[in-house]
Amino acid sequence: MKKALITGITGQDGSYLAELLLAKGYEVHGMVRRSSEEKFERIGHLREKITLHQGDLLDQFSLVALIEKIEPDEIYNLAAQSFVPTSWSQPVLTGEFTALGVTKMLEAVRHTNPKIKFYQASSSEMFGRVLEVPQKESTPFYPRSPYGVAKAYGHFITVNYRESFKLFAVSGILFNHESPRRGLEFITRKVTHHAALIKLGLKTKMGVGNLDAKRDWGFAGDYVDAMWRMLQTDSPDDYVVATNETHTVRELIEIAFGRVGLDWQKHVEIDPAFVRPAEVDLLIGDYDKAKKHLGWEPTVRFKQLIELMVDADMKRVEQRLANGEQF
Ligand code: NDP
Ligand code: GDP
Repeated sequence: MKKALITGITGQDGSYLAELLLAKGYEVHGMVRRSSEEKFERIGHLREKITLHQGDLLDQFSLVALIEKIEPDEIYNLAAQSFVPTSWSQPVLTGEFTALGVTKMLEAVRHTNPKIKFYQASSSEMFGRVLEVPQKESTPFYPRSPYGVAKAYGHFITVNYRESFKLFAVSGILFNHESPRRGLEFITRKVTHHAALIKLGLKTKMGVGNLDAKRDWGFAGDYVDAMWRMLQTDSPDDYVVATNETHTVRELIEIAFGRVGLDWQKHVEIDPAFVRPAEVDLLIGDYDKAKKHLGWEPTVRFKQLIELMVDADMKRVEQRLANGEQF
């Protein structure tokens, strides 16, 4: 039985990846940060099947101790400060988690067991002000936020440890991916959650920033499968994972509100608080290499993704109302 360690197991991707690895017969271990109250909603249904261990990307020794204890075959480093706006208000912390945290993980692998296969969660935000359309593995980076800069560091240190120490270390350059488990602050989930709240009469307005930004949005369930495939190859390499479709925030809102029969223009307002100091205007990924080498393709397309998220949010809010919860 193979053993996997997932950092960031409490996040959106961590929960889908844990499900996938369990289905494949892995023994699944997750690293979680100590907090005054446990927030394990996304992995609540898996608690009996996985083993959780305390550890933190900021604490080098905790990573070494964890790897020595678990002896994993594969490590998926998904933990990060992952929200772009927070990276402007907490740029140093973002660098500590999202950039240097990767070096700490790689050092832990190198000094405990350099045979462990290592996946790094890199991001299309590294392309930033894009230098090529669509973006592929060879497209140069031009990050536009402290988050994007930190991810570029994480990407290159992964490549560097592969080349310097012959680690089986790969970097997955994943474009935005979403699901009903996406954090509420990200635009897809913010919109689908608000569509449900407004439909059910619990709110009337939603403030947003730039409606013209374009993203290549895919389904998180598909993307964790690409992560796993990257660690099953004969030689480590980096891959873009995307849908090769791009849509504006405006289209996203139109589809989500349309799903519940609302005219979005009556409910959506521009709020400058959500406009960013520097924007990534256009992302669209070319996943040809992943298709050829990993046999990977997205199975859920944009409209279907947004509609399934709206349906899930409608159900969730209705359930909370039925439980007597106040909004
Ligand atoms: P989430 O924000 O949902 O999850 C982030 C996870 O990291 C949480 O489990 C969080 O734990 C954990 N974490 C944060 N800081 C630390 C720390 N110091 N020590 C230990 N754990 C920590 O992100 P996603 O699941 O959406 O994304 C997974 C990874 O993929 C991230 O690295 C993200 O940047 C990257 N990525 C995501 C994309 C997307 O569209 N979703 C696109 C490209 C890359 P806690 O619950 O305690 O907060
Ligand atoms: P990101 O691509 O990782 O930054 O993912 P987000 O979901 O946070 O943002 C996607 C795009 O939506 C960015 O171009 C944002 O500027 C844009 N956007 C517009 N309004 C909002 C908003 O209210 N919240 C968020 N999070 N993004 C918004």
